[in-house]
Amino acid sequence: MTTSSDENLAAVRATIARAAKTAGRDPAAITLIAVSKTFAADRIRPVIAAGQRVFGENRVQEAKEKWPAPKAETPDLDLHLIGPLQSNKARDAVQLFDAIHTVDRDKIAAALAAEIARIGRKPQLFVQVNTGEEPQKAGIAPAEADQFIARCRDEHGLDIAGLMCLPPFDEAPGPHFALLAKIAARNGLKNLSMGMSADFEAAILLGATHIRVGSAIFGARG
Ligand SMILES: *Cc1c(COP(=O)(O)O)cnc(C)c1O
Repeated sequence: MTTSSDENLAAVRATIARAAKTAGRDPAAITLIAVSKTFAADRIRPVIAAGQRVFGENRVQEAKEKWPAPKAETPDLDLHLIGPLQSNKARDAVQLFDAIHTVDRDKIAAALAAEIARIGRKPQLFVQVNTGEEPQKAGIAPAEADQFIARCRDEHGLDIAGLMCLPPFDEAPGPHFALLAKIAARNGLKNLSMGMSADFEAAILLGATHIRVGSAIFGARG
């Protein structure tokens, strides 16, 4: 049995409300990012029609092609970049996105700072932490996170809103979420981008302010 994306969205929202209640948190303090990567605009429109306004994409080029039309129809959409960023795409990213979750090295921080100054748009910025220290995965190592956050602020002049992580697929996510929360707390950062379709309830219990949910809303990616 398949359900439609607007029914899935309602179910995800109900789960968020339940998890927030369990955690003693205000559900309004949790931003649901509907991850629409690989889905075409005609699959996204029903979710916009159901009231969802925040969407996540993992590739600048895909977002640049896909989002101008839906954004023209619904101007109050919020677009979040959740995938790795190359410095030569920093200009497009600052132009297009309202938040960037994947700041993880000085070259990107410098490129973003330059484009923010040039364009005069200030997307919300998250530092990605590679909590599992996986060699193939983006993100700053946990041991280097404090210094990198300080350099983002002091050397690059960036406002860092929070931290993001993508735990290893084959491990329990809880310890990774807890580590991210700890690094954020000691650096005075309020926002935690953590939790996906399989584990967003656990992330909410551990303080997630931004959850990135794709397949639980849109169905399996092809
Ligand atoms: C694809 C993706 C998600 C969403 O994953 P689902 O399991 O489909 O919810 C979340 N975060 C990042 C960084 C992703 O690339």
